[in-house]
Amino acid sequence: MAKPFASSADLEEKEQTLEVLADGVYALTAQGDPNIGAIEGEDFLVCFEAMATPTAAKEWLARLREHTGKPIRYLVLSHYHAVRVLGASAFGADAIVAHEKTRGLIAERGKEDWASEFGRMPRLAKDPQSVPGLTWPTVTFADRMTIDLGGDRGELVLEHLGRGHTEGDIVAWLPRHRILYAGDLVEAEAALYTGDAFHREWASTTLDRVASFGAEMLIGGRGPVTRGRAAVDAAVEQTRAFLTVMLERVGEVHARGGTLKEAFEAAHAALAPDYGHWPIFEHCLPFDVSRLWDELSGIERPVIWTAERDREVWARLQD
Ligand SMILES: [Zn+2]
Repeated sequence: MAKPFASSADLEEKEQTLEVLADGVYALTAQGDPNIGAIEGEDFLVCFEAMATPTAAKEWLARLREHTGKPIRYLVLSHYHAVRVLGASAFGADAIVAHEKTRGLIAERGKEDWASEFGRMPRLAKDPQSVPGLTWPTVTFADRMTIDLGGDRGELVLEHLGRGHTEGDIVAWLPRHRILYAGDLVEAEAALYTGDAFHREWASTTLDRVASFGAEMLIGGRGPVTRGRAAVDAAVEQTRAFLTVMLERVGEVHARGGTLKEAFEAAHAALAPDYGHWPIFEHCLPFDVSRLWDELSGIERPVIWTAERDREVWARLQD
C-alpha cells in the first residue's frame, strides 16, 4: 500500500509543553513538532521562531503572556522554512532578525517553500488564511550579532556557524545560562530534514562549532529539551550520525553509478533501525536523499522544492 504523502495523514494534535529553563528563558516543545522559544530582556522580549501561521503563533503567545507582559522587541528566525516563519505577523516585533542568506532564500524561494511545506504538513498550517504574506527580516547579519538583555541578564549571541540545515541557519546562545537554541541544526529524538542542506559541511565543521559552545541545555528544532553536558553532546552526535550514515550509504550507491531509488533504499535500511520510530522519519527521507544525491552530483545549492516536485520525488521513492 502506498504511504500517505509526507505528513499529510498526521492530523492528530500534539501536546505542547512550555518549560521555564532559567529565569526568563522559555521553550515550547510539542512532541516532535517544531520548537519555539523566548528570552526576557530587562524590559523587552526576544522571541525565537514564529510558527507556521499567525493563528498558531497567537496560541503560543497567549501561553507566554501567562509569564511575562513585556513587549516583543526582536523576533529571531533561525532559518527560512515556512513552518517556522510565517506566523511572524502575530508577534508585532520591532525587528525581525535573520541571517542575510535567509533573507535571500525568502526572496528566491519563499513562495514555493510556503506551498511545499503547507502541503507536506497541513496540521501545522493552522488557519492558513491568517498568513498575510511572506515574512521579511528587517535586520540581517552575516556572522554574529549580540543583543544586550539589560540589567544583569547578560547578552544573547546570535551566530551563523556555517552551512547546515540550510545555507543561512543561526543559533541563539545565552552565555550566562549556557543555553543554546540550535534551530534545525540539531534534532533531539526527531528525524532530520535535509532537503535544503549541505550535508558534508553540516556533519563536520558546522556541528563541531555547535558542540564547541559546551552548552548545558540545548533546544533543538524538534524534540524535547536536552539537559546536561552529556545529553547535549549526545544530541549533537546523534544528529551527526544521521548525516554520516546518509553520506556513507547514499555515497556508496552514487559512486558505483547506482540509481536514486537504490540510494533511498540503502539509506532507509541503514537508518530505520535507529531512527525509523522518530517523528517525520518517513516524511523526510525521500527529500533528504534526493538533496544529498544532488549534492554528491555537484549541484551546489539545493534545487527549489515546489508542491509539484515534492509529489514527484515522493512517487519515485516512497510509494
Ligand atoms: Zn527547517
